[in-house]
Amino acid sequence: MKRIAIVGGGISGLSAAFTLEKQRSQGMPLEYALFESSPRLGGVLVTELVEGCLIEAGPDSFLTEKPWAIELCRQVGLSHQLIGSNDPDRKTYILVKGRLVAIPDGLMFMVPTKILPAILSPLFSSRTKLRMAQEWFHPPRKAEHDESVAEMVERHYGAEMVDRLADPLLSGVYGGEAGHLSVRAVLPRFAEMEANYGSLGRAMLAAHKRTLKSANGPAKPLFTSLKDGMQQMVDAVVARLPDSSLKTSSVVQGLQRQDRGWLVSAGYASDQFDAVILATPAQAAARLLYPTSEQLASELAAIQYTSSITVNLGYNQKVRASLPPGFGFLVPRNEGKRMLAATFVHNKFPHRAPPDRALLRCFIGGTNCDRELQLPDEAILQTVREELRQIIGLSAEPLFTRIYRWKGAMAQYGVGHLERLQRIDDLLTQLPGLALAGNGYRGIGVPDCVRSGSEAANRGLTAAGLGDSKVTASV
Ligand SMILES: Cc1cc2nc3c(=O)[nH]c(=O)nc-3n(C[C@H](O)[C@H](O)[C@H](O)COP(=O)(O)OP(=O)(O)OC[C@H]3O[C@@H](n4cnc5c(N)ncnc54)[C@H](O)[C@@H]3O)c2cc1C
Repeated sequence: MKRIAIVGGGISGLSAAFTLEKQRSQGMPLEYALFESSPRLGGVLVTELVEGCLIEAGPDSFLTEKPWAIELCRQVGLSHQLIGSNDPDRKTYILVKGRLVAIPDGLMFMVPTKILPAILSPLFSSRTKLRMAQEWFHPPRKAEHDESVAEMVERHYGAEMVDRLADPLLSGVYGGEAGHLSVRAVLPRFAEMEANYGSLGRAMLAAHKRTLKSANGPAKPLFTSLKDGMQQMVDAVVARLPDSSLKTSSVVQGLQRQDRGWLVSAGYASDQFDAVILATPAQAAARLLYPTSEQLASELAAIQYTSSITVNLGYNQKVRASLPPGFGFLVPRNEGKRMLAATFVHNKFPHRAPPDRALLRCFIGGTNCDRELQLPDEAILQTVREELRQIIGLSAEPLFTRIYRWKGAMAQYGVGHLERLQRIDDLLTQLPGLALAGNGYRGIGVPDCVRSGSEAANRGLTAAGLGDSKVTASV
């Protein structure tokens, strides 16, 4: 019987466990244990039902175009629960000098593909509009080095595009700043498009036309979620794992390499395994690996994380009727607010709030969020309510509020991240039986975490002598 340990019971660790369970239940001579430090499984995936409103404490959905989360949902019997975002009502605003301006039609992520709506939009100055027209004629360029998203976007469209769009859009996903994030790691398609077309606008339009041509049936929604909340994914996976494999409230404090395998220490007990999957944030993996490989630990510790807070507020029908249509708004840093974004949940996923309720989800995050994390709920709420008053004139008393703090949960892929992953891969080849998974490596979204967990499980199986020997060490 071979034994595999998984450390970390967020969606990455659960996906690894589910991959192992599929093999075990088909007769593979395998035993596994999943160690999770908190009393509950799921990591940042938490759903709460409050007064008929479905509140997501962490992720509220995932990108439809990345298939791995949807595939996992199907495998655990949740096909009927998959829902798409309400895209016909998709409209997002940017706060510009204190006023909300709608993102113009034809903007794909931050790339304008329709000139007229962009030219007519008050979101950009004449100077940026001129840059957009000139961008169409950029010659192809293959960058020799990685650079930040801000540097690339500025080269194409100027600094205003970075401040008003690139930075707020990335803050909403990574809680990070466009000036720090690696274009190759965060927007690999942009680097490819620049190399092949030069102009991001022309490249994006060509890709869009190809998608339309090959599409069968109606367009897919941008985001997918689960009808009764993201927590369903956790519950359905956990229901398929044997209780005896799940070790909650078990902090792994030590990891020791042995002649054959690894010794995992949690609480007062230590146990021997043939392979170990570390599905924790990279910083936690670094601490565990320090005694084994200082070099690997320092590469992992260099992957930065930021914290975030979601503040959820429920309101009555009167407020709902007074809010602007659309999915919500983004707040550029230079607007001087603490809030980075707000989602009008009742529009994005209508069934998540009864018709007579408005549900707002505000997001505080980024490099300076650690100060806010220390503040009491009342102080956080006061800031958010004051900013909602300034931005959308909302001063009504909420019917209920819920605040969730996520310390160091959002990985930041800095410039040079892919080169770091290559060094990590090289170091992993010297540590047989060790696999890494999680949001610190090749994708922060839920689908990428699901994929990373199942790939790590396959590497664990190979290391334990049970899997396909062609699977190599890699994060
Ligand atoms: C507020 C917020 C909103 C988000 N929104 C979206 C979204 O809308 N769409 C999307 O796709 N993604 C979103 N994300 C990102 C995505 O949810 C995460 O990247 C992903 O869920 C991370 O999963 P994980 O399992 O890798 O990590 P985590 O969920 O952080 O799980 C890691 C687990 O490891 C455990 N652990 C750590 N150290 C130890 C130890 N020594 N021993 C045992 N256990 C340990 C922790 O307790 C934790 O449970 C969001 C993230 C946040 C925080």
